[in-house]
Formats: sequence, structure tokens, C-alpha cells
Amino acid sequence: MSQIIDGRKIAEEIKLEIAAEVDQLKRLGLKVPHLAAILVGNDGASETYVASKEKACHKVGFKSTLIRYKADLTEAELLSKIYEINNDPDIDGLIVQLPLPKHINEQKITQAIIPEKDVDGFHAVNLGRMMQRLPAFISATPYGITLLLERYKIPTEGKHCVVIGRSNIVGSPMSILMGRNTYPGNSTVTLCHSKSQNLPELTRQADILIVAIGKPDFVKANMVKKGAVVIDVGIHRIASSETKTGYRITGDVQYDEVAPKASFITPVPGGVGAMTIVALLKNTLLAAKKELYK
Ligand code: NAD
Repeated sequence: MSQIIDGRKIAEEIKLEIAAEVDQLKRLGLKVPHLAAILVGNDGASETYVASKEKACHKVGFKSTLIRYKADLTEAELLSKIYEINNDPDIDGLIVQLPLPKHINEQKITQAIIPEKDVDGFHAVNLGRMMQRLPAFISATPYGITLLLERYKIPTEGKHCVVIGRSNIVGSPMSILMGRNTYPGNSTVTLCHSKSQNLPELTRQADILIVAIGKPDFVKANMVKKGAVVIDVGIHRIASSETKTGYRITGDVQYDEVAPKASFITPVPGGVGAMTIVALLKNTLLAAKKELYK
């Protein structure tokens, strides 16, 4: 029987811990952490993500500022705002919600945020520091997954961890984190991607299988070893006539058939997704403490 990894419960616990730290800062008469978010255009999913980030900030006592722009904002105008925030001592962390309109170069934007305020962990300096095992802001989703492994005390040392997906924000950093000489880590890591051959043969070798492929219900029971730990990063909204909302939410893993084989599994929703925002809050608290880049 598998144990469900309850991301929502852990996320709530960590929010309480962060809120207690914020109370302590207030008692000492210190400034509370301040997260700024820039939203360009009115993409529905981005609106939802930004709204939940703002809500989470308020819940733990952070200050949050949302800066909205119309989709026709120029790249130069956006860069100018980022430079202004980089130099604003009141703002500790800055995120620019992706995706951006096509005429804006995302790479240029994410690299314009100073590493000290890059709480999304997308800047090359933070990725490089993570590679070198120096203190760094780690991108929220992989960081959230490490927190889940830690809180559930899931052994990782010497285990074979197979990661499917090599995106800059999930799969690639995740594979590096699992191979680090620390806990969670010390795993032997296989990174699979769209050019990998014999994928089921590889995934069946996984003691820990982390799936960030972006294809609904892709991982089936015959791709998973009995007793594996299965972490599902995917999130998809699928039209359904069986729900009141007209859609159902599913992950990259065929949950119903994989769960009975797994020792631990994250549900979707309520697994990794719940942890991503909490990881962003933890990074913002770290940024406010100014300890990382001393
Ligand atoms: P992405 O599209 O950038 O990357 C997908 C990766 O999957 C690519 O590296 C590609 O090589 C690999 N891939 C594609 N087809 C494959 C195949 N047939 N076999 C093996 N590998 C294959 O995706 P992403 O940004 O990493 O996101 C992945 C999923 O996670 C999406 O569903 C996304 O919505 C979700 N996501 C969730 C959260 C969260 O907080 N829960 C955060 C980020 C992303």
C-alpha cells in the first residue's frame, strides 16, 4: 500500500513556520520580507499563479507588490523596471511571471534580476552556485520537492533516481540536486528527455521516479518498479463531463494504476504544486535575511 505525500499539509506546516519567523522579525522591530511580482499581459494561468503567490505572502505576513503591465510593454521598459527594483532596498525578492509576450526575450529578463533578489532561482549565478554546492536560491519546484522528501524522511542515499524532463526550471536542477553530496541527494541519477530511448526500461530501474514531462497521464504502471517513490510534477486541466467544473486536474502520472505499486506518491493536485509557492516564500525569507550572499 502506498503512502500519499500530502503536499498541502506540509505546505501549511511550513507556512506556519515562516509566519512565526516573520512575527519574530516584527517583535525585533525589523522589516518584514517584501516580494515583488511583475505580470505582463493577462494570461489566465499566470493571473492565477500570481494571485496565489500574493495570497500566500499575506498569509505569512510578507509585504507583496504586484506590478502589472499591458502585453505591449517593450523589453526596454520591463528591463528599466527590473533595474529600479534591483536598487530598491525595500524589496527583497523579485519574480517576473513567465511566459512573457513573444517580443520580450525571457532569458534577458531573468538574467537582469540581480542574483541576490532572484528568488525564482532562474539566474545563471544561482544555477552555477547550486552546481558548485554553494548557498543559492534554488528554483521553487525542485526546492519544494526536496522539502517533501525531507519531511517524509524518504531515504535517497545510494538510490537510483530517474528524472524525466530536462527543463531549466524543473528537470535539470532536480537531477543536479538529487546527485548532490547531501540529503536529500547522494542518489545515482539518470536524466531522461525526449531523445531518450527505451524509456520504460529506464524508469523501471528507478527507486525514486521524478516526472516533469508535461504530458497528461504519461507514466503508466508498467513503467514503475514495485515500491518506487513517485513524484509527479505535471499539472494538466483536462475537459471532463464527469465533474461540475467541466474539467479534471491530472498529472504526468496515471495515478490510479501507479499508486498501488508505489511506496510513496504525490497526488495531483495536492502534491508538488502546493509546495512550489512555499519554496518561493522560503527563498524570499532567505533573501530578506541577506545571509545567502554575505
Ligand atoms: P517542459 O515542457 O519545459 O519540459 C518537458 C521535458 O520533458 C523536456 O525536457 C522534454 O525533453 C521532456 N520530454 C518530452 N517528451 C518526452 C518523452 N516522450 N520522453 C521523455 N522525455 C520527454 O516542462 P516543465 O516546465 O519542466 O514542466 C513539466 C510539467 O510540470 C508540466 O506539466 C508543467 O505544467 C508542470 N509544472 C508544474 C509545476 C508545479 O508547481 N506543480 C511547476 C512547473 C511545471
